[in-house]
Amino acid sequence: MRLVHTDALVLGDGAPILDGAVAIGDRGEILDSGGAGEVLPRHAGAPIERVRGAVLPGLVNAHTHLELSALRGRVPGGSGFVPWVEQMIGVRSELRPEDDAAAVERAVDELVSCGTVAVGEVTNSLAAVRALARAGIVGCVFHEVFGVEREPLERRVAGLQAMVAERVGTWPTADLAYSATPHTLYTTHPDVVRRLLAAARERGSRASVHVAEHPAERRFLEKGDGPVAEWYEARLKLRRDLLEWPGESPIAFADALGALAPDVLAVHLTDALPAELDLVARRGATVVLCPRSNLHIETRLPPLLALRAAGIAPALGTDSLASNASLDVLAEARALHDRFPAVPASDLVGMATWAGARALGRTDVGRIARGARPGLIAIEGDVGADPCAFVLKNVRAPRRWISRRGETVS
Ligand SMILES: [Zn+2]
Repeated sequence: MRLVHTDALVLGDGAPILDGAVAIGDRGEILDSGGAGEVLPRHAGAPIERVRGAVLPGLVNAHTHLELSALRGRVPGGSGFVPWVEQMIGVRSELRPEDDAAAVERAVDELVSCGTVAVGEVTNSLAAVRALARAGIVGCVFHEVFGVEREPLERRVAGLQAMVAERVGTWPTADLAYSATPHTLYTTHPDVVRRLLAAARERGSRASVHVAEHPAERRFLEKGDGPVAEWYEARLKLRRDLLEWPGESPIAFADALGALAPDVLAVHLTDALPAELDLVARRGATVVLCPRSNLHIETRLPPLLALRAAGIAPALGTDSLASNASLDVLAEARALHDRFPAVPASDLVGMATWAGARALGRTDVGRIARGARPGLIAIEGDVGADPCAFVLKNVRAPRRWISRRGETVS
C-alpha cells in the first residue's frame, strides 16, 4: 500500500479536495481518500508520494472509432455530415490495411498516454479489441451494423459471432463488454435496431447509437428527402420510391424503437431541440457528447446548456480521428469550457470521468472512491482555488500515471 499526498484530489464524482490524500493498494484499488490531515495519519508508516498539482481518476472516453485512426487530419469538415462521410469513404479507400493496423496501435498508445482508463469503442472491424485489452483499457466494444434493407442486414447480424471468432479469437477480457449495436436510426433497419437493443438488454449489456447528430438526419427521418436521401440514391443506388422513413423526429423515433433508455448510449444529440431533450431526460437516457467532432463536421456544438436545463448529465467522447485532432477526452471538456464558461469546471471534468463510467455501466472507474480501481493521473502545477479549472486550462501539460489498474490481460 502507498499514499499520494496532493495539492488537489479531483474525485470525478464530487467536489475536489484541496490538500488531499489517497491510499492505493497493490492492484491500483483505492483504499482510502480524503483530506491529507485525516488520511495520512490513518496509514502512518506507508510510503508517501508528494504531488505538487492535481491528481484525478483515469479518463473515460465514451465514444471512439479507433479503426478510423489512420484518417487523422485527412478528412476535411465544415460542410456537413454527408459531404464528410463521402470524403471519408474516398480517403479510406486509398489506405493500405497495414496503415490502418499501425494507426490503431498508435491510437491505443495515445489513449494510454493521455490517461484513459475506459472507452466506448464503436467498431465495424473489431481492429482495436486486442490492443485495448493489452493496454488494460476497459469498457464496451459496440460491434456496429448498418443497412436499410432488412434481409441482408439480418444475415450480417447472424454472421457477427463468426466474425468475432475469426478476427479476435477468444475474447481477451471480461473487462471489455461486447454487444452488437446499430449505427444510426436512419442507416439501420428499424426491426434490426429493436432486436439489437433488446438482445443487449437481455444480456445486461449496453448498446450505443448515433442520434440527432446533424440536420440532414432530421430531414430524412421527418420528410424522407434532403442530403441523406440523395446520398442513398447516388451512393447506394437505392431507388427513391423504395426508401422508407418514419415521418418522425430523430428523438421521437429513437423513443419508439426503445433507444432512449439508461442502457443505450445516445451519442451526439447535437441537433436535438429543448422539448426533445425533456423526453430524453424523462426516459433516463444515457447521453454522450462529442463536441470537437461536431465542430469539425458541422461547425456547431451540442446544446450543453439545454441538456443541463433538462437535467441531463452527459458523458464525453472524442469520436474518431477522422473528425478530431486527438483522442484526449479532457480536451473535449476544455472545448466546452472555452465556449460555456458558466458551466462549472468540476462538472466538465466529471463528464470526462464519472459520467463516462456510468454511461459504460461501470462503478469501478471514473472516480476516486474506496474499492474503485480508476487508475490515477497527475497534472503538475499551481492548482489555485479551482483545481478543475486548473486541469482544463492545462490540457496540454504533461500527464503522468500515478497508478494503473494493475490488470493482467492476455
Ligand atoms: Zn461516432
